[in-house]
Amino acid sequence: MITIYDTEAIEEIRSRNAVQPHRMKLFRNALFKNSADCKTALEMLPEKARADFKTRIDFESLELAERHNSEIDGASKLIFRTRDGHLIESVLLRPKTGRTSICISSQVGCACFCSFCATGKMGFTRNLSAGEILDQVTQANRMLKPENRSIRNVVFMGMGEPLLNLESVSASIDFMTAPQFFDLSPARITVSTVGIPTAMDAFTERFPKVKLALSLHSARQAVREKLMPMAGKYPLERLRGTLSALGGKIMIEYLMLAGVNDQEEDLIALIDYLSGIPVHINIIPFNKYPGCDLLGTPQPEREQFANRLKAAGFDVTLRYSLGADIAAACGQLVQNKRKELIG
Ligand code: SF4
Repeated sequence: MITIYDTEAIEEIRSRNAVQPHRMKLFRNALFKNSADCKTALEMLPEKARADFKTRIDFESLELAERHNSEIDGASKLIFRTRDGHLIESVLLRPKTGRTSICISSQVGCACFCSFCATGKMGFTRNLSAGEILDQVTQANRMLKPENRSIRNVVFMGMGEPLLNLESVSASIDFMTAPQFFDLSPARITVSTVGIPTAMDAFTERFPKVKLALSLHSARQAVREKLMPMAGKYPLERLRGTLSALGGKIMIEYLMLAGVNDQEEDLIALIDYLSGIPVHINIIPFNKYPGCDLLGTPQPEREQFANRLKAAGFDVTLRYSLGADIAAACGQLVQNKRKELIG
């Protein structure tokens, strides 16, 4: 079946039904700009064309399986079920001072096996299609409509390594930024990666305004490899060339883990590794979850680490955990749900 994101196939249906372009514009605006449901969007089309559109187009690529709302900070975790029965997660963030954001998934599971990540423990099942990536945003916008909110920032930081699903991720970004669809500014989209230099180079060439975030987590090769097995394939030395070329266009993510990457030698290695590259560093707290024996660095030590980086001349943001009461660590809820389903 054709999805609502398949522009070529929809153009064919439009042409067959001789729908005027201005009626199509109303239909698209209803769906992607006004977050209307399928019935309301169909009413924008001439009556005789509605049945064909309704029967031939699949308006939802995903089914919402669960929604968990945080009672402390306005985050909502959404679990979606794909048509073939897999579960993926998205997180809606409503920061008091910022724009409404969504953290979306790009794969079912992940092949990167990062030791701190619940998704990494699931293994890889398959890539998501562009439609499945986009439907996370469409459905979130529909949920936000009664709150007079809409998604202003999209972050590819949910399940999966986006640069290992470059085709669907790129197609979804084209759609998100197209004026006739979501019309999001590319500068409001962030793609997070474990650090695959060739893919990072190709991605920034295609999307120069979309932000890249590198999950660095250690500037010591042995420590990084232990945290992120993919680091063995793409060593720090090779990655530094890409970082230098990207300069200020990249954000560095540094998850702080007690006794693992928060010691004096870690700080010195980090300052040394990033010296001369105008990056912004995000210091991230760790959400502990069952089955993982890593511990987060306590807040005072995180602050101290951040202050030392600032003193060394870096732009640093100390992040605070959002949605801690709804298992916001990537993959955690899906893992719980899987256990529930398989007993
Ligand atoms: S942190 Fe990201 S790249 Fe690493 S295992 Fe989890 S989902 Fe995959």
